[in-house]
Amino acid sequence: MTRSNNKIALFDMDGTLADYDGQLLKDLKKIASDHEPEPRLYSGVSYLEARRHVITSQAGWFLNLPKLQLGWDILQIAKEIGYSISILTKGPSSKHIAWSEKVEWCNRHLSEYIDGVIIAHDKGLVYGAVLVDDWPDYIDGWLQHRPRGVVIMPASEHNVGYSHPNVIRYDGTNLDEIRRRMRERFAAS
Ligand SMILES: [Mg+2]
Repeated sequence: MTRSNNKIALFDMDGTLADYDGQLLKDLKKIASDHEPEPRLYSGVSYLEARRHVITSQAGWFLNLPKLQLGWDILQIAKEIGYSISILTKGPSSKHIAWSEKVEWCNRHLSEYIDGVIIAHDKGLVYGAVLVDDWPDYIDGWLQHRPRGVVIMPASEHNVGYSHPNVIRYDGTNLDEIRRRMRERFAAS
């Protein structure tokens, strides 16, 4: 299915359409000792990072990630407006099995929505009118070359307080604003 005349919306997977953080936290708690503090993601604690690596290296881990509703709300709007939707995900450099599982996840859940899957090391290289991504560094890299690009950022703990005029943070309560900004970008040249 190709809708080549339509504007492109790029969707991230982990933290956007797939609940990477939620599943990871659940798995970290499962193997935590009663004597350690509650695990916190992205806190730079080395034993948690090591456990994260072990957890996410399991065969089937990426394939079985649950959906994240915030991202799916935005996906539905992109489809309604008529965007050509592609997945833009970063391939973990040391976990090649994850690449195929991510593609399989897309085939399972997204075949009615998407025109393609792009696995990139640098998301900044990929063109789109809209990017939907939760990770501030990737957003900054992508916007650097796209002054008119619009970014929708699904809210999470690691992007609290992020602010940029082209970025709208979606926390589940401001769907009308998301729809309006995505419509405006779609109508613009
Ligand atoms: Mg992400």
